Amino acid sequence: MARKAEPYRIKMVESIRMISREERQNKLQEAGYNPFLLKSEDVYIDLLTDSGTGAMSDNQWSALMLGDESYAGSKSFFKVKDAVQDIFGYNFVIPTHQGRGAEQVLFPHLKKQDGQYVLGNMHFDTTMAHIEMNGMIPVNLVIEEAFATQKEHPFKGNFDLEKLENFILEKGPENIAFIIATVTCNSSGGQPLSMANFRGLRQIADKYSLKIDIDSARFAENAYFIKKREPGYENKSIQEIIKEMYDMGDYFTMSAKKDAIVNMGGLIGIKDEEEMYRKASTSCVPMEGFITYGGLSGRDMECLAVGLYEGMDVDYLESRIGQVEYLGNELRKHGIPIQWPVGGHAVFVDAGQFLPHIPAEQFPAQALCNELYLEAGVRPVEVGSLLLGRDPVTGVQKKAGVEFMRLTIPRRVYTDNHMDVVVDALAAIWERRDQVKGLEFIYEPKVLRHFLCKLKPIEG
Ligand SMILES: *Cc1c(COP(=O)(O)O)cnc(C)c1O
Repeated sequence: MARKAEPYRIKMVESIRMISREERQNKLQEAGYNPFLLKSEDVYIDLLTDSGTGAMSDNQWSALMLGDESYAGSKSFFKVKDAVQDIFGYNFVIPTHQGRGAEQVLFPHLKKQDGQYVLGNMHFDTTMAHIEMNGMIPVNLVIEEAFATQKEHPFKGNFDLEKLENFILEKGPENIAFIIATVTCNSSGGQPLSMANFRGLRQIADKYSLKIDIDSARFAENAYFIKKREPGYENKSIQEIIKEMYDMGDYFTMSAKKDAIVNMGGLIGIKDEEEMYRKASTSCVPMEGFITYGGLSGRDMECLAVGLYEGMDVDYLESRIGQVEYLGNELRKHGIPIQWPVGGHAVFVDAGQFLPHIPAEQFPAQALCNELYLEAGVRPVEVGSLLLGRDPVTGVQKKAGVEFMRLTIPRRVYTDNHMDVVVDALAAIWERRDQVKGLEFIYEPKVLRHFLCKLKPIEG
């Protein structure tokens, strides 16, 4: 087959620069060896997140001019609502300022009493925080293969359905608040859930009268993987696959900053429960804003209505996920251990295997992030024990299933040349990996500590 390039050309550019190694060393020390605290202008290639970092299209920028900035009943809101009904088939739509806004508005209404469990494949960090803040207990029930980074499995975001049902039986269905299916499963490496797994999930939910919320940041990337990897779906359109996935849910909470390619925005979708829509609307007003804007300006909603469709374009998805795959394949050629197969939005480097001399409580993935910044001004992010935190009761450091360093690829932003810089830098570190040192805290916040903590290398 002929080689393909990006299905777009570049109309506007933003300059980036690499500061000297000495400056990078100073900046990192000032940031407490926490890349979240670096200034973006001191970063050459920013792979911290794919959230809100995508490049909007000419169609989105021109839609922005149509924004209806009315407080109530904005025309722009109805464009979003129409898009959601068309794409997902959900009747009720509430915009929010971002994904966590959707979580804070909806989650309190999914709980019957304190101490109920929320069963997920793997919870995203802010999602977990909102579950805990609402007095519920998040439980991860992803398949075991998700943690075997070298093992081939097409759907490492799948629920272990047997474990799920056993958990429900053990605790009693009355003690389960809801099920949350994260597509793609960010925390296990941007890994997809299969349609078969979705169907199994729905059967179990129906059997025990439980509701399913779909955590939908990467709804289109998940659909693309189903098309590519699940027998029977190769000839279905992304649109058809998404409809089928969402038929299996009751609600969705979405960060629109990912697959919908906007810089800010979120959504709640409710399939058909008017009562739930009323409750969520009542919370939305004091928390996010009136129900026809929910923390967004009219122009934000215009861009969102367009972006929801652009994110589903199959040629775009092929190029986007293809770039992530390219980075993963190049790293594997050097023997660098990564989560395999490569996920949708990022390459997850297995830092536990990369730096086996650094124990979990000295945060090997964070150490590798820092080293990559020093080497080439690249900013990745830790998804391991630092992010996981301590047991809230005992205060003991929890140990992540895998210590991941995530190289997150923004949408439509970097070229493969940028990917090559990352490959060269990591390959250089791989050659001297035994010299990388672990980290210890000099400041540790109580909640979501990875964002604001300060660390230093352990000498000796
Ligand atoms: C980003 C994300 C969220 C939270 O969304 P924000 O827009 O960052 O508030 C929730 N769940 C998943 C899976 C995400 O990736």
